[in-house]
Amino acid sequence: MIVMKFGGTSVKDAEAIRRVSAIVANRKDKRIVVVSAFATVTNSLTGIIELLKKKNEAKATEILGRVEEFHSIIISGLKLSRELNEFIDNKFKELRQLVKAIGCLGEITPKSMDMILSAGEILSSAIVGGAILQAGCKAVHADSREFFITDSNFTQAEVDQRLSGQLAIRKCGELFGICDVIVCGGFIASDESGRTTTMGRGGSDYSASLLASFLGADKLEIWTDVDGIMTSDPRIVKDAKRILALSYAEAAELAYFGAKVLHPKTIYPAVKADIPVVVLNSFKPENSGTEILRQIKNTKIIKSIAFREGITVINVQSNRMLGAYGFLSEVFDVFRKYKTSVDLVTTSEVSISLTIDNDKCLGNIVEELEVFSKVVVSSGRTIVSSIGEGIRDTSGIAARFFGVLKGINVSMVSIGASEVNLSIIINSKDLRKAVSMLHEEFFSQESGPGIFQGIRDLGREGKSY
Ligand code: ASP
Ligand code: MG
Repeated sequence: MIVMKFGGTSVKDAEAIRRVSAIVANRKDKRIVVVSAFATVTNSLTGIIELLKKKNEAKATEILGRVEEFHSIIISGLKLSRELNEFIDNKFKELRQLVKAIGCLGEITPKSMDMILSAGEILSSAIVGGAILQAGCKAVHADSREFFITDSNFTQAEVDQRLSGQLAIRKCGELFGICDVIVCGGFIASDESGRTTTMGRGGSDYSASLLASFLGADKLEIWTDVDGIMTSDPRIVKDAKRILALSYAEAAELAYFGAKVLHPKTIYPAVKADIPVVVLNSFKPENSGTEILRQIKNTKIIKSIAFREGITVINVQSNRMLGAYGFLSEVFDVFRKYKTSVDLVTTSEVSISLTIDNDKCLGNIVEELEVFSKVVVSSGRTIVSSIGEGIRDTSGIAARFFGVLKGINVSMVSIGASEVNLSIIINSKDLRKAVSMLHEEFFSQESGPGIFQGIRDLGREGKSY
């Protein structure tokens, strides 16, 4: 059994939905298909909620009209059953009434927010279920709210994994007795009193990951609109390659750099249960994507040169004498007070350098640090990181890394903390040069077959680097 999750862009119009249906129909395993709301829908529903908070019922109703129109266009391109069309009409009727009632009341509760937010997945899963049936599969639509049980923290509900697991096993077991494909919505659930809840933005990946772990799936496939995870940003590195396999630790490190991948937290349940997770492109289903595994065999290399701009480095030098204790904790207390997350840290006996990427409270932070230390702030910096299990396992990578950077001023170095990440801080003006040179050094010819694939070869599987 496999779990296949399709994100909003994979189901953005009738054509995309037909493509998804074909991908699902082409498989032989028992399948659970988890879908997001159609692209842009959750944002529009969030917009409706914001308008209702501002007591602008008229505008909220107008946006709801547009959401309905968008769904009508999609379903007109799919030949769905009369029942399904009625279901969709009724859902919008219900939503219009809800918006009106909230307007009359002049107040919106978290519970009604989730009644609105959940509509995206309730509709998309029913529609995609209908389309998959049309494609000739023995498919059944299931309402995830029957087996995903959460607390009552509306819009950010926490899943009761034990209970949800039991219910999901029972429900899917029953349904697989009569069908091959179960289609359900991600993101949505219900609390113990049966009221609809949602799991927070982007929650569909989490739903899929949990289902895979509950049911011991053979694989979790996350279908998106990108080819997978790349060795670097293709806008800077022309010959960036697709990474065929990553370890969970590598994927988690890459997430900080905004790699267009899954959030490590959301895929954790599947990874923990040792279920391989694969990121695939629903617009190019013939590509093998990027696989994320708990552990990987080839640990000798680095996988990616990632970077993040807009970094501020803060150098804090203690006013006290050598050997005084409590300095570091005093410094971190200041960052905690201003809820500012510190990313890289290096220390010496009397000083500490650290980086932040959110300088909203920088003024206050510096003022408080200056009470007991000398502070130097440098902004406009960039973190460049090489990420890979090879950093832990292979000698010589650090030497090569720094060898390449001759002539570039490196102001901070961090290695070893996560064991799969070697990071430096440079001036943002050197970014292009540093990243291109590092990519050239580590990815130009080496790295063995089956680990990377050049982007120019995408679509022609088989030629690996
Ligand atoms: N539709 C929800 C969102 O856009 C959940 C998801 O797509 O994962 O946040
Ligand atoms: Mg999404």
